[in-house]
Amino acid sequence: MPNANSHTESPLDIAENVPLAPFTSFRIGGPARFLIGAHTQRELQQALRFAREMHLPFCILGGGSNLLISDDGFPGVAIRLLMNRVTRSGGMVQVQAGYDLTALVHRTVAWGLSGLESLAGIPGTVGGAVRGNAGAYGGAIGDVLATVSALDAATLKVVTLRRDQCAFGYRDSRFKRDPGLIVVGALLALAPGDPEEVSAKVTQTLAKREAKQLSCDQSAGSFFMNPVVDDAALIRKFEDEQGVRCRECRIPAGWLIDQAGLRNLKVGGAAVSHRHANYLVNTGSATATEMVQLARLVRKEVQVKLGVVLKEEVSPLGVVI
Ligand SMILES: Cc1cc2nc3c(=O)[nH]c(=O)nc-3n(C[C@H](O)[C@H](O)[C@H](O)COP(=O)(O)OP(=O)(O)OC[C@H]3O[C@@H](n4cnc5c(N)ncnc54)[C@H](O)[C@@H]3O)c2cc1C
Repeated sequence: MPNANSHTESPLDIAENVPLAPFTSFRIGGPARFLIGAHTQRELQQALRFAREMHLPFCILGGGSNLLISDDGFPGVAIRLLMNRVTRSGGMVQVQAGYDLTALVHRTVAWGLSGLESLAGIPGTVGGAVRGNAGAYGGAIGDVLATVSALDAATLKVVTLRRDQCAFGYRDSRFKRDPGLIVVGALLALAPGDPEEVSAKVTQTLAKREAKQLSCDQSAGSFFMNPVVDDAALIRKFEDEQGVRCRECRIPAGWLIDQAGLRNLKVGGAAVSHRHANYLVNTGSATATEMVQLARLVRKEVQVKLGVVLKEEVSPLGVVI
């Protein structure tokens, strides 16, 4: 095995054949051939060099809250991003990719800065959130970013991109489309706010999430994205029933799954949550294969019954949903 730890660099923490399930909110996934925790950008570069020298693919793990990993695991180098420094200058907050998103929300509240309130309670890291443009209640992380720093896995150099170069969209970004760009940090432009008001907004967000029971264990949150629907009758039915206007013709996937009568549907240990129909949950012993079978069944039934095609929000690793 090539030595990833040259005498000029601090030793890398490399482990072999490590089960990945404990690093995911689904608690599903077989072993990685190698697992490396990157505490600094330099360690990330070393880990990528190691993968290259071993002729192995790499993958990035953030908080694992949006990942469905194959039962066979990952036959390469899994790299956990653990760099987690945050600094502030006025309303500009510089944060590293491994920082916990919810902790960041609370930190910015303590600083009396406004802009992240609607993201309170979303699990995972800042890097994972930037890559998927995580959001809730009409806000998304891309809205408050000034720049994103990303390490190009091909050149091992860091590029800094302005927000308008990041192609943010609904649960989408340039980093999602190009896995060779690893988010290492973000500069957020937040507004000064009244600390009590900002804190109250965060409390409201958390209460709304609690009321909808969005903190469901052993899931990856919403499994499917909310699709754009062109069936006017279906849109009207949703709006009449829910008493809300749908945004950009997107209907919540959970409502569609419910309409198709799929709440509580099960395949082995994988189930449609009884609390939230767009949450597919591991009831204890689900395999990735069962989760994929359940997801395919849900997608097929929704398509057959309602004519709407669902696309997964969850990031698959070694599985095809
Ligand atoms: C209970 C629950 C509730 C949730 N609610 C919401 C919600 O309200 N809104 C929402 O948007 N999401 C929600 N999610 C999904 C999830 O929290 C987000 O997608 C989160 O941003 C994922 O971040 P992560 O660090 O856990 O990413 P991971 O799950 O670790 O990774 C997801 C993908 O991003 C890649 N990745 C991770 N870090 C980086 C990086 N630094 N650079 C490049 N690629 C990277 C990984 O390789 C993988 O492909 C929820 C999940 C759970 C379990």
